[in-house]
Amino acid sequence: MCAVGETYIRAIQHVGGTPVVIPPTTTEADWAVLVSQLDGLLLSGGGDIAPQLYGEESEPWMDQVNAERDFSELGLTRQWLAMERPLLAICRGHQVLNVALGGTLYQDITAHIPNALDHAYVATQPMETLAHSVTLDTKSQLAAILDGTTFDVNSSHHQALKVTGDKLVVTGRAPDGVIEAVEISEHPFCISVQWHPEAMVKTSPTMWPLFEAFVKASGG
Ligand code: MN
Repeated sequence: MCAVGETYIRAIQHVGGTPVVIPPTTTEADWAVLVSQLDGLLLSGGGDIAPQLYGEESEPWMDQVNAERDFSELGLTRQWLAMERPLLAICRGHQVLNVALGGTLYQDITAHIPNALDHAYVATQPMETLAHSVTLDTKSQLAAILDGTTFDVNSSHHQALKVTGDKLVVTGRAPDGVIEAVEISEHPFCISVQWHPEAMVKTSPTMWPLFEAFVKASGG
């Protein structure tokens, strides 16, 4: 089982959007309906994506793999992007977006990136705890939305983007080089972050503009 955290729902509601939770069990028959009926897609956090979906064998540190959710989200994401609809991806969603576009992941940061920061820091702390900084590309859509290029963010992930998928541009990195933000430049709104902005909004206004921009792009 998996469930959408309440913080995602409340963040969308707070900026005037109407959240609709999509079950992690959709199939081909559902995707076209969802693309035509919904205004924006938020890919939320969760467990690891099966490495076979990006051409690798599973390493020992894989966590909470859910084949049905992988299938559901990857299929919907591809159809959603084909129609250039507004998309906001967070944490696992950031990784789903990358794999949907042919990218790959580091199955574990500690195992594969020497001298990396502790990106799973928040696993033992409240989710809003700030863990490291990110530096954004000054020309990115995300920097324009957040009105700045350096932010302290939370961090609750043990995997990271390795090879970026087709059309994705790296727009933000942590001090250790880990990719923390990507976007599709020519897309009206396809923004993706590795941190959890929805968990930061209750203690800081910094990330509110991201949700406001997403709901606005979705017609809200
Ligand atoms: Mn991080």
